[in-house]
Amino acid sequence: MYSEMSSAWTPYGPVVTNHVRSDETVASALRDSDAGMRDADNAAKHGVAVKTIRRWRRLYQRRGQPRGQAHTLARCPRCDGAPLDQAAYAELLGWYLGDGHISLGRRAVYALHIYNDLKYVDLNAHIQDLMRRVKPNCRPHTRERPGCLNTTVAWKHWPCLLPQHGPGRKNERILALEGWQQEIIEQHPADFLRGLFHSDGCRAKNWATRTVAGKKKRYEYPRWQFTNNSADIMRWCQETLDLLDIPWRQSYWKTLSVSKRAGVAKLDELIGPKS
Ligand SMILES: [Zn+2]
Repeated sequence: MYSEMSSAWTPYGPVVTNHVRSDETVASALRDSDAGMRDADNAAKHGVAVKTIRRWRRLYQRRGQPRGQAHTLARCPRCDGAPLDQAAYAELLGWYLGDGHISLGRRAVYALHIYNDLKYVDLNAHIQDLMRRVKPNCRPHTRERPGCLNTTVAWKHWPCLLPQHGPGRKNERILALEGWQQEIIEQHPADFLRGLFHSDGCRAKNWATRTVAGKKKRYEYPRWQFTNNSADIMRWCQETLDLLDIPWRQSYWKTLSVSKRAGVAKLDELIGPKS
């Protein structure tokens, strides 16, 4: 801890503060700010006032190191021809279409938010991993909501990679995949389905009765279901299942089921459990 004027070392160079805060606190807050976290959230996380966050940022801007470097350092696969981890992208696209959202933050920097149930600890760690593979060196941050985890990464280029972004809800708009997205899905169909089914799907146990030798027998069978309000996203799910020869049926306008034993087994193998 330091009092009065102290020099706090951050990854961006020394920052002079005149507050009683540890170096780690200042560095951590600047890192979060750099990743696009809102000042109010940042202040709450670090136990300081909003104006303190602003002042820390101003102090290091004055040293000729404009914040926002992290956003511009990651080059865009669409604008700059940077390499893209296509398998990770296909899966993250599935998550975005299922339970994702893009918001516009300060300085024209967008934030990708993926929401998922808190109980899926492994999947929530995996979402961060996908984000790091799609935007190299990024630092996803998470925020708990009741029962739900919001995993976020800021980047100016999210709309380049996720052109389905637009005003209003996804199910109230007509969505179209761009040609390059279609190619990636065709190359990595299982990854795309994993994102879709792990966000908006479930693996449920069902039961049915069958008459065997004059006696009614009850038996259980597992099935995968995918539920989404967008007819376009539903169609992309159907087409990708077709590509992999996995039989499906539309059990309701917004619900698709994979219930044939071979289809369930194949999907289990390709996308793995929700955990
Ligand atoms: Zn771009």
